[in-house]
Amino acid sequence: MNRLDPSPEGGVVRIGVVVEAPQHSGLLGVLDYLCPTALPPGTLVRVPLGRRVVTGVVWETQDAAQATADDAPASAGFQLKPVAEVLGGLPPLPATWRQLVAFAAAYYQRSLGEMALMVLPPELRQLDAVQLQRRLKRLDKALAADPVGDASPHPTGASAEPAVPALPELSAQQAQALQTLAERGAQPFLLWGSTGSGKTEVYLRRAQQALDAGQQVLMMVPEINLTPQLEARVAERFAGRRIVSLHSGLTPAQRLRHWTMALQGQADLVLGTRLSVFTPLPRLGLIVVDEEHDPSYKQQDGARYSARDLAVYRARLEGVPVILGSATPSLESWHNALPVAEGGAGRYVRLTMPERIGGGEMPRVRLLDQSRALKPTMGQAQPPLARELLAAIAARVERGEQSLVLLNRRGYAPVLHCSDCGWKSGCPHCSAWRVFHKADRTLRCHHCGFSARVPHACPDCGNQDIQPVGRGTERLEEQLAEALPGARLGRIDADVTRHKGALEAQLASVHAGEVDVLVGTQMVAKGHDFRRITLVAAVNPDAALFASDFRAAERQFALLLQAAGRAGRDADVAGHSEMWIQTWHATHPLYQALRDYDFEAFAARQLQERQMAGMPPYASLAMLRAEGKTQQAAQAFLEAAAQAVQDLVAQAPEASGLILYPAVPTPVQRVANVERAQLMIESAQRAVLQRFLNAAQPVWLALAQQHRRNGLIRWAVDVDPLAI
Ligand code: ADP
Ligand code: ZN
Ligand code: ZN
Repeated sequence: MNRLDPSPEGGVVRIGVVVEAPQHSGLLGVLDYLCPTALPPGTLVRVPLGRRVVTGVVWETQDAAQATADDAPASAGFQLKPVAEVLGGLPPLPATWRQLVAFAAAYYQRSLGEMALMVLPPELRQLDAVQLQRRLKRLDKALAADPVGDASPHPTGASAEPAVPALPELSAQQAQALQTLAERGAQPFLLWGSTGSGKTEVYLRRAQQALDAGQQVLMMVPEINLTPQLEARVAERFAGRRIVSLHSGLTPAQRLRHWTMALQGQADLVLGTRLSVFTPLPRLGLIVVDEEHDPSYKQQDGARYSARDLAVYRARLEGVPVILGSATPSLESWHNALPVAEGGAGRYVRLTMPERIGGGEMPRVRLLDQSRALKPTMGQAQPPLARELLAAIAARVERGEQSLVLLNRRGYAPVLHCSDCGWKSGCPHCSAWRVFHKADRTLRCHHCGFSARVPHACPDCGNQDIQPVGRGTERLEEQLAEALPGARLGRIDADVTRHKGALEAQLASVHAGEVDVLVGTQMVAKGHDFRRITLVAAVNPDAALFASDFRAAERQFALLLQAAGRAGRDADVAGHSEMWIQTWHATHPLYQALRDYDFEAFAARQLQERQMAGMPPYASLAMLRAEGKTQQAAQAFLEAAAQAVQDLVAQAPEASGLILYPAVPTPVQRVANVERAQLMIESAQRAVLQRFLNAAQPVWLALAQQHRRNGLIRWAVDVDPLAI
């Protein structure tokens, strides 16, 4: 029934179909096909492309006769191929979805074809009409058999009547935030609230209103695997509704099913990671972006979009409110939410919730001067942590309270070293050291994944005594176990949680009180609602103070504050909760602001520096990135690219401050034998930067073709880059 046999009496219509067209093909991705009937834009179709049949989206429709009259003969109707079949059964993708995709493609300098197909569930691109039909039927059956949501990832059991959960009484600041949300309607809001101030409760209440009004809600979180609690909370609160999740951890079939439920309006609430910003939602009424400052909202390869920024765009497009929530907003969002009178852009409505629920206080911050604290006492081995800190942890173990020790470096030691000849465990494929992992006795490169058994002797001189230098979470755990006999240690990092279910199991044992001291990377700092933690210690947080990336301080402040938020979440333990910072730079302004929990002061200072340096949010950036067989090849392309657009730069208005910086190697310049370089482009005016990039793109495409012969492997434009 989906076959499109050209009927003699039916007219023939020419339609534009978007198919996958990689950016570097230079094609936009809209190809013309013939169809016996006009298909509404947004319809999913299968079309012949070369020798394959691929999935595409109808973008525009026009009458073939009309088209033939208007266009050059080459595109005349009779030469075009017919559409193979319509992927029937699914409603067309909404117009707003197409607008969002078109905007994202243009803004992030990708082809429409790449963007549109990339954001569809991968499985959808594999299925033909018959297979899809079968899937849809199965889904219908499942939904019919379960009117309240057993098809969702959280089966609510067989109870026909969803239990109405008892709602907590709102705090005054929550009530105020909700009132402002109600008054201001379809605006972007920045919900700035301490960790534990009840931001999630505000999302849930506002979501409830949208659901009651028959609308759909899109709720975004940075990393769904790290926030099982939020998923559970949402499912519990909206037990009578269909909740679906959308993230890369789903099976292809699940992802297609959840996406389909969203498109068909069967899912009431979508909880997802960055990719979910593109979910077609015909009844969208609210978007929430939790932890809006989190870097994982920015896609780091391919189409490098920011899901946070697209969420704001989408909300405006669809005329719905968007709530960006954070205890430490990104400085971009902060600036947008600052009133004009205070030097801000005044674009977002700011909602402020400084107090933790139940009067819980943030832990007291203790800055521990490492240069003094770690001085070894005569005849004793150096302790893994400063003695005072160890004592504070030991006291908590004694009392049955928990401690969290944060070290943002996994593995046992970041490098092995031979003291005889100076050999170090470098990666043969990268400009980086290989990390020593004791558990499986390997040296692993965290950049390319290259892994080998630890050698018994120095590969260069045969010395048998090669030593680990420095320390990662694995070693810290070992050292703490020795220093705190009887304490139960636990660890959470990417190594421990590699296996499915391992993170959940480890978290469960922390919640059950089976762990006294938890060692972890930044993974544990985010979102977890630990109840018995009364001490958080950051062991080596100084690197960010001197990083070349201008966002390093912002990220570090957010991480430390978030980590601090893991402590004292219950009022009965909040009084004696502490956040320890073991640092060589105790007087640094970042730590001073942290000690006072003064995000405003920190942000004001950062914004001042950014303004003086002409950095975001006072300027827009794009990064032209290149990868080559040699560093010289990568840089040669970038230099030629800059040269080739000199006249475009010259045409830009003086006041726009459009600047191309010199090409430089990236911070880790070689990864997996590929050399990487980058060139920063800056303008005080976003629109000027956009116009420039649009004009430069075809020039660079042509140039890249030539440079491929000279060792250029890949290149890309990264608009609003996060990592500099
Ligand atoms: P945030 O998202 O700002 O970190 P949460 O919404 O997770 O804060 O709230 C922290 C804790 O306080 C949670 O356990 C939550 O259930 C509880 N909570 C939130 N709002 C209220 C309220 N109004 N009354 C009582 N408890 C609340
Ligand atoms: Zn040696
Ligand atoms: Zn490597």
